[in-house]
Amino acid sequence: MVQEIKVTNPYSRCDCKSEYKVDEERSSKYPFVGALCMNGGDVDNSYTTNSLLQKRVLSITNPILVKNTEEMLTNLDFPKCIKVADLGCSSGQNTFLAMSEIVNTINVLCQKWNQSRPEIDCCLNDLPTNDFNTTFKFITFFNKKLTSNGSCFVSGVPGSFYSRLFPRKSLHFIYSIYSIHFLSKVPDGLEKNKMSVYITSSSPLSEYKAYLNQFKRDFTTFLRMRSEEMVHNGRMVLTLIGRNTLDNPLYRDCCHCWTLLSNSLRDLVFEGLLSASKVYSFKMPFYDPNEEEVKEIIRNEGSFQINDLEMHEFDLGHSKEECSLQSHKAKAGQKEASCIRAVTETMLVAHFGDDIIDALFHKYAHHVSQHASCRVKTSVTLIVSLVRK
Ligand code: SAH
Repeated sequence: MVQEIKVTNPYSRCDCKSEYKVDEERSSKYPFVGALCMNGGDVDNSYTTNSLLQKRVLSITNPILVKNTEEMLTNLDFPKCIKVADLGCSSGQNTFLAMSEIVNTINVLCQKWNQSRPEIDCCLNDLPTNDFNTTFKFITFFNKKLTSNGSCFVSGVPGSFYSRLFPRKSLHFIYSIYSIHFLSKVPDGLEKNKMSVYITSSSPLSEYKAYLNQFKRDFTTFLRMRSEEMVHNGRMVLTLIGRNTLDNPLYRDCCHCWTLLSNSLRDLVFEGLLSASKVYSFKMPFYDPNEEEVKEIIRNEGSFQINDLEMHEFDLGHSKEECSLQSHKAKAGQKEASCIRAVTETMLVAHFGDDIIDALFHKYAHHVSQHASCRVKTSVTLIVSLVRK
């Protein structure tokens, strides 16, 4: 393997003129949002050990990643240097699975069309609190995934994707998997008397409107920032959690991950381990849009053309057969609880302290196992690919 990999240390690039004051926003009325970060390291509760769901999501995104990489390459007439960015790369190996797919696609197509291989700048972005070191330890894994020679330069880019991260007109290809459903902040104006951490069927309509408005604002900012950073005809592939309801915007099924988290917190309140008022002031900085909402925001922002838009089942990987046995239900519960724990633990600890965490996810695993055979799900995976106009 003659692959040349150069790793640079994470370095900060910030656009001081950005009118969007991300840090202030993130730590406003709900300070725990500033702690948002997947569990680092590679121990039992880490994100890298508990991100099989996201890995599966990557495999359904792959065909669209490959197709858009090929189209980008031919439309841009085989650039000599290609800059690719993963926004919300997290810690662990997932980022390199997608990146290697893109790099291999570029190299295979160049060979097919008798073009010299470009130098490829692979930029991995996440929030500054992300454990980039664990990610960088997977460089050898990345190297092994690459099927041909060529120059790849890997760097970390700490910062919020709701701000400028890259110089103008420098990016050719962007992807982001399971990240942009995270909002920059919890919306203002939510009622602080509900024991639900997110929209449920019994929420007032104003709660849905508050979340939707925050998503509109954030996603529009995201698109505007990327439109400045991308070259004309550059491509972007975004995969996020969405919902498949078009009529009732409040409806979430009984096993929606945040409904199960609310139920688990409620159990702890009933057992006297937590105060109700503490739960009232915890809300997820998250929104699961439907297809129409995503399309409308992209159209209104105006810089991108939609190329593909697909909706897939939100698959936690537990088939009907697997869930028919009690022991398998319990195992499915454990797995899902570990996955949700790896994603939410830092925020939960910042708000509730770490004493309740084990008990909370014990409850969570139990709730999942009770719902293991639910088949009507509102959550879906949305994949959208965009072309910079
Ligand atoms: N793409 C990875 C990680 C998904 S987890 C995978 O498929 O496995 C979501 C990631 O998005 C987390 O690491 C989180 O820190 C990051 N994230 C959330 N909000 C962000 C923001 N505003 N800017 C950059 N990264 C963000």
